[in-house]
Amino acid sequence: MNLILFGPPAAGKGTQAKRLVQEHGMVQLSTGDMLRAAIASGSELGARVKGVLDRGDLVTDDIVIALIEDRLPEAEAAGGAIFDGFPRTVAQAQALDKMLAARGQKIDLVLRLKVDEPSLIERISKRFAEQGRADDNPEVFVTRLAAYNAQTAPLLPYYIEQGKLTELDGMASVETVAASIDAALSGAA
Ligand code: AMP
Repeated sequence: MNLILFGPPAAGKGTQAKRLVQEHGMVQLSTGDMLRAAIASGSELGARVKGVLDRGDLVTDDIVIALIEDRLPEAEAAGGAIFDGFPRTVAQAQALDKMLAARGQKIDLVLRLKVDEPSLIERISKRFAEQGRADDNPEVFVTRLAAYNAQTAPLLPYYIEQGKLTELDGMASVETVAASIDAALSGAA
């Protein structure tokens, strides 16, 4: 089972992905986590992308596509991946379909966590205060939301056409969202 958790920043994708890893043994592939790890390790890639993350813009498609491609064998061995924060552009979605098809696999389900913008802004100020992640600061968050609206939201028709999109109320409690995800997964199994 290959699943995409889809939604704007702070929709709860990471939280739900981590729970799925613990309870279902799936592998979480978060390009945001991979990029932050590259920056923390001081690698050449990290140095290249740091400014982009700090501004809240998207890094180029080839970088994240390569990061994901490297991890597909591991996800396949575990029986499936939860894509978290990837794909974020139509080009990334097309590349993902191609990489999976080459391995005899596909995306089974795209779960969209719907959360309205005022709630996202409220959540992010709380997360910024608690965790101090630089790109959660209110000014950068505006850029991240704009990137979502301009470059990522246009992916919705792509997955609707493929008949893969299920929408969930991401405003509900973490437990309720988790239960709707489990219900969607059993329906798709
Ligand atoms: P996230 O933790 O998913 O919110 O990602 C943090 C930041 O990493 C984003 O604001 C982008 O700068 C970058 N990033 C993560 N995933 C992608 C992606 N799929 N495509 C382009 N940039 C990404």
